[in-house]
Formats: sequence, C-alpha cells, structure tokens
Amino acid sequence: MKTDASLYLHILPFQCPRCQTPILVWTFSPMRNLESVDATPFEPRCSCGWTGRWLGAQARSHLVLPWSATQNLSAEGVAVEGAIEGDTGNAV
Ligand SMILES: [Zn+2]
Repeated sequence: MKTDASLYLHILPFQCPRCQTPILVWTFSPMRNLESVDATPFEPRCSCGWTGRWLGAQARSHLVLPWSATQNLSAEGVAVEGAIEGDTGNAV
C-alpha cells in the first residue's frame, strides 16, 4: 500500500537574539512526530551575522507538512528574509 507522504517537512521559526529577525529552519524527516526533530541541533546564521546553536525544541513553533517525494530527500536549509537557501551547510 502506497502512502501519500513519504517524508515530512518540519519548519522551525527561531528568533535571532541580536536583531529579533525570524530565522526559519527547515528539515525533512521520515517521521511526523515533533520529537523526531526536537532533539536535532541546528546552527542557523542570521542576516545580521549572528550564528548560534539551537535544538529543534527551542523553536517558537513547529510546523509539519506531509511532503511527497519520489526520491530520498535529506536536505536542510535556512530561510532568512524571504530568501531560501538549501544545503547551505549552516544547518546541521
Ligand atoms: Zn539577527
């Protein structure tokens, strides 16, 4: 039996402690539950130059979307001020 969603896109909004700009971090997970990403460390870089290390559980919210994909996606990325960067290496 085939399922609609082979992956889940987890979107995590953080707030930069220096300039208060929202920093959106996204990652794919084969699991829908929040706990699968809560323990994941992220190292986003803000447009103001600030960079730090957060756990998924420290995000201000946590949005999960089913993501259909025919190939195995494992990318992570950071979106700052509307610009989305994928595979930047900033997110771990
Ligand atoms: Zn900032």
